[in-house]
Amino acid sequence: MFKKILIANRGEIAVRIIRACREMGIVPVAVFSAADRRSPHVLLADEAVCLGPAPASESYLHMDRIVQAVRQTGAEAVHPGYGFLSENAAFARRLEAEGIVFIGPRAEALELVGDKVRARQTMEKAGIPIIPGMKTVPTDLAEYRAAARSLGFPVIVKASAGGGGKGMRIVLREEGLEAAIEAGRREAKSAFGDASVYLEKYLDAPRHVEIQVLADNAGHTVHLFERECSVQRRHQKIVEETPSPALDPALRARMGETAVRAMRAAGYNNAGTVEFLLDKDRNFYFLEVNARLQVEHPVTELVTGVDLVRQQIRIAAGGTLGLAQADLKQNGHALECRIYAEDPANGFLPSPGKILLLREPKGPGVRVDSGIYGGWEVPITYDPILAKLIVWAEDREAACRRMAAALDGFVVLGIRTTIDFLKDVVGHPDFRAGRTDTAFIPTRFEGWRSPEADEETASIAAAAAAIEEMTGWGTASSPVLVATTRATAGGRKEAPDGPWRTLGPWRIGSGT
Ligand code: ADP
Repeated sequence: MFKKILIANRGEIAVRIIRACREMGIVPVAVFSAADRRSPHVLLADEAVCLGPAPASESYLHMDRIVQAVRQTGAEAVHPGYGFLSENAAFARRLEAEGIVFIGPRAEALELVGDKVRARQTMEKAGIPIIPGMKTVPTDLAEYRAAARSLGFPVIVKASAGGGGKGMRIVLREEGLEAAIEAGRREAKSAFGDASVYLEKYLDAPRHVEIQVLADNAGHTVHLFERECSVQRRHQKIVEETPSPALDPALRARMGETAVRAMRAAGYNNAGTVEFLLDKDRNFYFLEVNARLQVEHPVTELVTGVDLVRQQIRIAAGGTLGLAQADLKQNGHALECRIYAEDPANGFLPSPGKILLLREPKGPGVRVDSGIYGGWEVPITYDPILAKLIVWAEDREAACRRMAAALDGFVVLGIRTTIDFLKDVVGHPDFRAGRTDTAFIPTRFEGWRSPEADEETASIAAAAAAIEEMTGWGTASSPVLVATTRATAGGRKEAPDGPWRTLGPWRIGSGT
């Protein structure tokens, strides 16, 4: 087993991996940029190396500096987390050439699945159902046009090198095709340095259901069931759960077995996820492979009892899986909400800044994977994820109730977050009934506004009490928060400090 691992990432996922290292008796090494000097992952690690200035290209994406940090600290392996260099085949090759272990799949598998068109070809050859669409990247518009006509509109333009929704364009009618292809090409070129785009049939409000897979270096491959990730905004997941309310045991078994076959066809090792779209007639189609640890991995961990990060490290160190398919079971239900530093009432604009007060929920079945603390300044430079709130309970209904209560107990003041939005998502009758597809957020939450003050009395009052305790402010005559209408004339006093900015329709008063 490794003695020292360098974690080439930041935020909540770096913290998560540091934890796994500690439990395994491995020394965790953090890397950081100038913007992250006081970040939790830096404070938690045994050693930390500054890579350079804030821009990711100068720090978390800078291969030379990461290799140098590995050399300097004597680490034997690198865990890339998700994002940044996690699916970069050149990085995996570079580490291999330097005699450093990359905790992830081999470079050839990364190359294959990182190219959506190549992956589709491989899957089709292996008899895996793929979304109807092109299997090569055309050279002229006429080919796109002919393909779109035979698929029938709507179609979706996708970047072959795609990820994070970049280069994706939905085309409703033929008139929009050329402009969408051009826009997709431009976006793909600037995001991935590769302008190749192709077309798929745009399915009508499918569900996104993915299967977690683990494969050791000897080719022993198992799946750890599904995650339902249909609650998406702009094609990016925000709430995930397992089991999926849409699967029955027979469909689950078929999708699991198909995912294992897909990964074998790709020559895949380590942890990875096969994503599928499931249509209204319960047909499922291969979407793509995510060749890394997923953001939403904790729901699988809570329901299967398998620590995925620990498994990744064991496999990378040459260990065998030690898990047989028949041993794996789903127990209870888990939900995850992603908490972002974004303002949902304002077009989900990023909301960086200082966290003045933080209260994370606790209790049975509540897990918070967090990369923040009170007093910490959220930088603007990176992905705005602050924390993930994950709950487990014996069944879906109990898990929903636990999530709602835990969101109520999650207080972040000083910056705007998506917590209130998530409360409404989890409280929505269709969500409660398990009626979620990828159109759930766009159709139910268009133009969402934050809830009126009186719905939040309890959590705001708790926050006010905590602020009072923290700042000692107003001790002579304890201030209490009084609901008021938004922007009332007169009575609204200017708050002495930042947290009040985020309180919305409240003023500070005597309680009368
Ligand atoms: P990326 O790799 O950029 O994240 P994906 O191919 O994984 O893109 O797709 C992300 C999401 O976009 C899917 O979960 C789904 O909601 C939507 N999507 C992608 N392809 C299709 C399609 N052919 N039909 C309908 N929705 C799609």
